[in-house]
Amino acid sequence: MTVYDYIIVGGGIVGMSTAWQLKQRQPNARILVLEKEADLGLHQTGRNAGVIHAGIYYEPGSLKADFCHRGVEATMQFCRDTGVPYEQCGKLLVATNDSELERMQKLFERCQINDNSTQLVSKAQLREREPAIVGDGAIFSPRTGIVDFRVVCEAMAERFSGDGGEIRLGANVTHIDESSDNVNVTTTDGNFVCHYLIACSGLMADRTAALLDIDIDFQLIPFRGEFHQLRPELAAGLKHLIYPIPDPTLPFLGVHLTRRINGDVIVGPNAVLSLKREGYGKFQFDAKDVRAMGTFPGFWKLIGRNLQAGSRELYQSIFKSAYVRQVQKYLPHITASDLGPFPAGIRAQPVMRDGTIIDDFLFANTERTLHVCNAPSPAATSAIPIGQHICERAMR
Ligand SMILES: Cc1cc2nc3c(=O)[nH]c(=O)nc-3n(C[C@H](O)[C@H](O)[C@H](O)COP(=O)(O)OP(=O)(O)OC[C@H]3O[C@@H](n4cnc5c(N)ncnc54)[C@H](O)[C@@H]3O)c2cc1C
Repeated sequence: MTVYDYIIVGGGIVGMSTAWQLKQRQPNARILVLEKEADLGLHQTGRNAGVIHAGIYYEPGSLKADFCHRGVEATMQFCRDTGVPYEQCGKLLVATNDSELERMQKLFERCQINDNSTQLVSKAQLREREPAIVGDGAIFSPRTGIVDFRVVCEAMAERFSGDGGEIRLGANVTHIDESSDNVNVTTTDGNFVCHYLIACSGLMADRTAALLDIDIDFQLIPFRGEFHQLRPELAAGLKHLIYPIPDPTLPFLGVHLTRRINGDVIVGPNAVLSLKREGYGKFQFDAKDVRAMGTFPGFWKLIGRNLQAGSRELYQSIFKSAYVRQVQKYLPHITASDLGPFPAGIRAQPVMRDGTIIDDFLFANTERTLHVCNAPSPAATSAIPIGQHICERAMR
C-alpha cells in the first residue's frame, strides 16, 4: 500500500490551495486529497458571493486581516497567471443617514490603517460614481474585486494534478487513527495511510477533529446565507459592489449588492440559522445536526444573546417585502418582482461553549495532524496565504 507523505481532507479552496502549494514546495512528496463529494468546491467555495475582499475593516493585527491583505494580491496574481477571469471593480460602503455617516468617519480611520488606498466619497461624488444608488456619502475601496472562487479552486487542482498530486473524489473520511509512525485514514472509498494529515473540511471541521478526540471547545453552527438575483436591467446600471456601513453591535453585515464576474448582481447574503449543515433548500433538516446544536450549551447562549437580530433576519427571510425595504435604502424604486431566486450558501460559524462567536482563524493539531477548525469569510480571498501558513506548519 502507498504510504503518502501528506493526505489533505477536503477539496474546497483551502484544501486545494494547501495541496497545490505543498506540492510546489516538495515536488517529490506523495500527496493525496480526499473529497467526499463527486466534485471539488461544492460547498462554501462554490456557494459564496465571489468577492475578493480588500480587508479594510478587519481588526488590525488579526490573522483574518493579515491573510486577507496578502490574499487580495495573491488571488489576483494567481488569476493573471492561470487565466481565471477576475475584475477589480471596487466597493462602495454607503451611509444612508446621519448616524451611519458618523460611523463611516470612525470606520474610515481603521480603513486607512488597513489599506491607505481607501477614499471618502461625498454625496455628489457617490451620485457620479453610481447614479442609481441613493446615499449621503461612502467609503470607496478601489482594491476590492470579484471572481468565481470555484473556478480558482479548479485551477489550483489542475496545477496540483499537473505536478503529480492525486485527488480522490467520492471519498468520505469516516475514521482517522494516528500512531507514532503513521496516520491511517478510513474512507467510504478505501483506506489510506500517510505520515501527516491536514484537515480542511469546512462545515465539518469540528467533526473531523472529533475523529481524533481532539479537545475542542466549540461547535460549528450553520448559518444560511440567502441571496436574491437583481433583474438584469437594474443590474446593468451598477458598476461597483454596494455595501452598508457595518454596525459593530450587530453580528450580521446587512443587505449588500454584489456584482458577479458574469455580470449578474446578487443581493444578500443574510444569515439565518440552518437546520442542516450542508443542506441548501430552505426547509432542509438533519436530525443529527439539530441534535448536536440542541445539546450544545453554546448554541442556546448564542441564540439568547442575538434573539432580536436573529429574529429580524428570519422575518426578512420569510417575508420578502421586509427584505425589499432594506434594499430600498440604496435602490428606492426596487420592488419584490425585481428580485429573483438565487442559490443559498451555508457558513460554518464556530461558537464556544459559553456562546462566544469565534471570528478569527482557528487551528488545532496533534503530532501528525493539523486541522483548520475555522476558515471564516473571507477565507476564499485568503486561501493562498492560508495555504502558505498551513504548509509552513506541516513542514516543521
Ligand atoms: C454565503 C457565503 C458568502 C461568502 N462570501 C465570501 C466572499 O465573497 N469572499 C470570500 O473571500 N469568502 C466568502 N465566503 C467564505 C468562503 O466561501 C469560505 O470561507 C471558504 O470557501 C472556505 O473554504 P474551505 O475550503 O475551508 O471550505 P469548503 O469550501 O466548505 O470545503 C470543505 C470541503 O471539505 C469536504 N469535506 C468535509 N468533510 C469531509 C470528509 N469527512 N471527507 C472528505 N471530504 C470532506 C467538503 O465536501 C468540502 O468540499 C462566503 C461564505 C458563505 C457561506
